[in-house]
Amino acid sequence: MNDRVIAIDGPAGSGKSTVARRVAEALGWSYLDTGAMYRAVTVRVLALGLDAGDAASVARVAASCVLGVGERVVIDGEDVTDRLRDDDVNRAVSAVAANPGVRSAMVERQRAFARHQDHGTVVEGRDITTVVFPRAELKVYLTASDEERARRRGDEDPSSVARRDAADRGRTASPLRQDADARVIDTTDRTVEDVVEEVVTWAKTLS
Ligand code: C5P
Repeated sequence: MNDRVIAIDGPAGSGKSTVARRVAEALGWSYLDTGAMYRAVTVRVLALGLDAGDAASVARVAASCVLGVGERVVIDGEDVTDRLRDDDVNRAVSAVAANPGVRSAMVERQRAFARHQDHGTVVEGRDITTVVFPRAELKVYLTASDEERARRRGDEDPSSVARRDAADRGRTASPLRQDADARVIDTTDRTVEDVVEEVVTWAKTLS
């Protein structure tokens, strides 16, 4: 058991997943992509033919599903890794993620994941610094210009990325926002290596 956490938040295309994965590798820690959890629940909701706006049914799916997030993402026995970034999932995920019942089920699982690692965990998402791990030893907020973020999300239509960002920032339940304690990095003109090195240096200063 270990509750050391590096929490990373930011909008789509800010570099969170790549940076978080590499920081975890550099430190020998675990990595948790919480966006993949909301995406997996969305895949399941769509497969069941539910309306993403049907709050009670969708929350029931989130609370009762068996979810494994690692190299592969498996929900209720189905490997959905290759479905996670499909257009229908991009369109529906923000509505699923705005559901407070879904969020409480996911947050509980995210905290349990970190608690059960032998070493620390690098966790990335939208509410990790503010809600899930407000006492994380290191909090990082990644940003990048709109143009650069759209470029990095080349497989997703820029208007879809913008819609998702607006929904994530504007929702009532755990909106994306910059935590007062977070160290901010604008990744627009920086290499992944450079950003990873900065975060790892901060992490080492703290330990
Ligand atoms: O990080 P990624 O773009 O894969 O996240 C997909 C969606 O999941 C986000 O647009 C957001 O609606 C939701 N999400 C969230 N809270 C998190 C991580 C992701 O609401 N901690």
